[in-house]
Amino acid sequence: MQALTTIAALREAVQAAKRAKRRAAASDAYEPTVGFMPTLGYMHAGHVSLIERARQENDIVVVSIFVNPLQFGANEDFDKYPRDNERDTRLAKEAGADFVFIPSVDEMYPAPTKTIVSVQDITDVLCGASRPGHFDGVATVVAKLFNIVLPDKAYFGMKDAQQVAVIEQFTADLNLPVTIVPCPTFREPDGLAMSSRNVYLNADERRQATVLNEALRLAESLSADPEGITPGQLRERIMEHIQTAPLAVIDYVEIKAYPSMEEVSSLQDSGRILIALAVKFGKTRLIDNTLLHRG
Ligand code: AMP
Repeated sequence: MQALTTIAALREAVQAAKRAKRRAAASDAYEPTVGFMPTLGYMHAGHVSLIERARQENDIVVVSIFVNPLQFGANEDFDKYPRDNERDTRLAKEAGADFVFIPSVDEMYPAPTKTIVSVQDITDVLCGASRPGHFDGVATVVAKLFNIVLPDKAYFGMKDAQQVAVIEQFTADLNLPVTIVPCPTFREPDGLAMSSRNVYLNADERRQATVLNEALRLAESLSADPEGITPGQLRERIMEHIQTAPLAVIDYVEIKAYPSMEEVSSLQDSGRILIALAVKFGKTRLIDNTLLHRG
């Protein structure tokens, strides 16, 4: 596995790997596939699961590690965001990556970008409402990374369900030749969704943070009742459960059609329904969600 820090070196290395695969297959018609997994780093088993999936489904696997300043608000944790490139590089290698791309901020943004990829409507709610500009930053950097890596498939976690919707939207709107592969959320044994930010939690916050997964499982069972709890009632029940944790401060609990992010009038509506939440424990903001599938 190779770790690369410049765009030119990464592009050349991926092209060389493709040439080598074609030579090994003794066929110019053979087109090796590239799987890509972008990350902010400070990896956990959730990240690793995405890399392993990319490894199973592609000839060449690229992982990027880049804490993207464009997606952090002025009062957010860009400077403090946990970083450990050495450990991440080892984990990526063990999970089967061929290349780890670790650009500097200057390499990605040699000058302030005047071009922003800005997805409309579906970014007005949930994390888009709580974190203005966040999804512009995500969409812009992911579009740049797609143009650098030129992947056939790119792997994203459904823990960030709105992010997946945003990426699928601009990829389709801009006709980018990449298939987005949504992947399931990895959880700790007690149900807490894995997140690089979990390291910020103190012992009490960490213990109480399990209410998030509990609230989502409760929501799943309540919404399965065909007698019909309304979306408003379900939202209340979720909030009540979260508030049993004294340290939990709710940012939002929302129930939306997925991926349109439109209001849902009934939990029996057909299609997919996203139940998403963001809750602060101390200074740490955690998100989690579940997706209901209706016939
Ligand atoms: P991040 O480094 O937080 O930007 O995450 C990189 C990718 O890993 C994103 O596509 C996330 O959705 C995904 N991811 C983060 N946490 C998890 C998790 N617990 N399970 C599965 N995927 C995850």
